[in-house]
Formats: sequence, C-alpha cells, structure tokens
Amino acid sequence: MINKKRRKKKRVCQFCADKNIVIDYKNFQRLEKYITERGKILPRRITGVCAKHQRDLTKSIKVARNVALLPYTVE
Ligand SMILES: [Zn+2]
Repeated sequence: MINKKRRKKKRVCQFCADKNIVIDYKNFQRLEKYITERGKILPRRITGVCAKHQRDLTKSIKVARNVALLPYTVE
C-alpha cells in the first residue's frame, strides 16, 4: 500500500513523528508492518523510516525472530 497523498515533500519517519512509539521486539505487531509476508524486512525507501530508526527496527525484528515472535524468511 502506497499512500500517494503527501503534504510535504519530505517524508517523515513514523517513529520520529510519534515519540510515543517504542521500537521493541515485544511490540511485534508493529514490527510486522515492516516485514513482508515472506518475513523479509522492508527497505527504507518503501517504509520511509529514517536510518536511525531503521537500524532499531532491524535489530528488534531480529530479536523478535530469535524469540519466535516473527518468522524468518519464508521460501
Ligand atoms: Zn526516525
């Protein structure tokens, strides 16, 4: 799903925009939005997440996989 409505030219990272959102592996329902159906992590250019938060996201997704909250890449 790509939202074509843009108010500003610059796309703001959702995690920067909302400081209340905590990137944590326990919030795996949120992390699920950043992985594909096959369990791959979506690239930044698709999600619009900034570099800093993408790093946190990747880290949390990997932890979530380790504790079996999220799937590894499905063939
Ligand atoms: Zn950010």
